[in-house]
Amino acid sequence: MARSSQDLFCTQCNLVVVAREIAVGHGDLRSDAINPLDEIDAEYRSEVYTVLICPRCASPFLVRESIWGIPAEFETVTDTTVLYPQLSRVVPADAPESVSRAWDQASKSFNAALYEPAAIMCRRCLEGVCVAFGATGRNLAAKLDSLASAGVIDTRLNEWAHSVRVVGNEAAHDVSVAIEKEDARDALDFTEALLLYVFTLRRKFERFQERRRPQSD
Ligand SMILES: [Zn+2]
Repeated sequence: MARSSQDLFCTQCNLVVVAREIAVGHGDLRSDAINPLDEIDAEYRSEVYTVLICPRCASPFLVRESIWGIPAEFETVTDTTVLYPQLSRVVPADAPESVSRAWDQASKSFNAALYEPAAIMCRRCLEGVCVAFGATGRNLAAKLDSLASAGVIDTRLNEWAHSVRVVGNEAAHDVSVAIEKEDARDALDFTEALLLYVFTLRRKFERFQERRRPQSD
């Protein structure tokens, strides 16, 4: 694979750039042959790792290519994965389907530089949290406060949730406001922390307690 650049999406520049290769390395060679070098017609599989640099902002990339071939016959790339930077954020485990979907949309919107939709979908995640924990109140602000009063979230998480709510409101209702990239990113970070806390870590702790509970009989 003689090459010196690859077209990649730079998350810092928010566009596809011609990234320059600065290092290439091979993973282990896997083959049915006892000695792949002797049995030239035996299939082999391997991974090629490439480090590249964005020509605009100098951010790094790490790309993994899975290769499959037969020596002296062919070699083909069966899969290409950008390992870094991570394009979409992982959906927090144990979140309800509606929240997972909103979160996925928020993450994808941000990656596509659609900051208003990203902020709106973060706000929708908050609404999903309120539904999941039976929040009460006539609007989202009151519902979040009811979750704080009930001890579902603590004071700091409640502050973060309110900041996401405000950014989401601006994105949804105020046409004169353009949501900045930084604000959208912060909204995603706070939403992610909230989802991890109320769904993933809560459930993880329950399982931990179940595992550690002494057998009673
Ligand atoms: Zn860049």
